[in-house]
Amino acid sequence: MKPSDIVKSFRIKTGHKFRLDDLSPSETLGFDIDKDEVKDLLASGVKRLRDLQEKLYADGQRSILIVLQAMDAAGKDSTIEHVMSGVNPQGCEVTSFKVPSPEELKHDFLWRTTVALPPRGHIGIFNRSYYEEVLVARVHPDVLAKQNLPPELVTKDIWKERFEDIRAFERHLVRNGTVILKFFLHLSKEEQRKRFLERIEDPDKHWKFSAGDIAERARWDEYMAAYDSMIRHTATKEAPWHVIPADNKWFSRLAVAATIVERLEGLDLSFPVLAPDMREAMMVAGRSLLEEGTPVASSKRKARKANGGLAESRADRQADSNDQAMVNYRYW
Ligand code: ATP
Ligand code: MG
Repeated sequence: MKPSDIVKSFRIKTGHKFRLDDLSPSETLGFDIDKDEVKDLLASGVKRLRDLQEKLYADGQRSILIVLQAMDAAGKDSTIEHVMSGVNPQGCEVTSFKVPSPEELKHDFLWRTTVALPPRGHIGIFNRSYYEEVLVARVHPDVLAKQNLPPELVTKDIWKERFEDIRAFERHLVRNGTVILKFFLHLSKEEQRKRFLERIEDPDKHWKFSAGDIAERARWDEYMAAYDSMIRHTATKEAPWHVIPADNKWFSRLAVAATIVERLEGLDLSFPVLAPDMREAMMVAGRSLLEEGTPVASSKRKARKANGGLAESRADRQADSNDQAMVNYRYW
């Protein structure tokens, strides 16, 4: 099995009949590989991603929005760290969405994420997202209360309406050149227990511990119901969800990397070709730069050779290739 085969196993394009319970958080699709092989596979995926990102940036037409949702300790942060480790930071922004500020609460629920959307040519990663508005806001009624919405707008239909608005928002983004990849890192309650205990037992991980995480864990079933409903209502062909088994970190990283690579490859990205006038201007610049440099390099080379015939240095090779380039330029 190749990493690309992983992708289709976890892609949810339609919420119809979706049930989170049908997917196991410890699934590894029979991948039986050792640590070094995982490292190699991930490294080649990361390298591929870097090449694709360079083209995405140069092409400057599309943007990639990666949405990451998960329960605490599912590995959102480390997935971002590993999978995006090779990409050029100039073309990639990570935004983490926490409890909204008073300023953010004064706006509609899509406002703060809208201003953080990636521009064309960029990859934007949302570490949590507007989906919290149908997750934590659904599990905790006081979160919704703080939004100070006109009471007549807060009806039993509010979640259905939010799903509708999110679908419309994502469709709008897709129609404007954004590619959306949504990931839910699907962790089991037992694996979360183990990871929390590891944090408590290891002083170097104490900083990751938060008492609030334990309170959210107590609402596990409500969260799972909210996630289930969210995926059922917002998995679409243009903006599918990827439900990634997250009990094995190596597997979830591989699956996320494979999904992003596969999607970017499907875009058939290529470096832009210069318009004829721009190309001509570049050739003129190239000729004049070569003329500027070659006499110095050649004279240095002659002086060196006269000085005892030293072995060819990098400068000599450069001078030779400059000479060759001059020949090529003259032919154009
Ligand atoms: P980590 O724990 O790894 O630092 P995190 O994403 O869990 O990452 P925290 O600061 O622990 O970061 O938690 C952010 C909290 O903000 C979560 O409990 C989340 O539910 C909450 N949050 C995010 N968006 C909203 C929102 N729109 N309304 C209310 N709460 C939100
Ligand atoms: Mg947290």
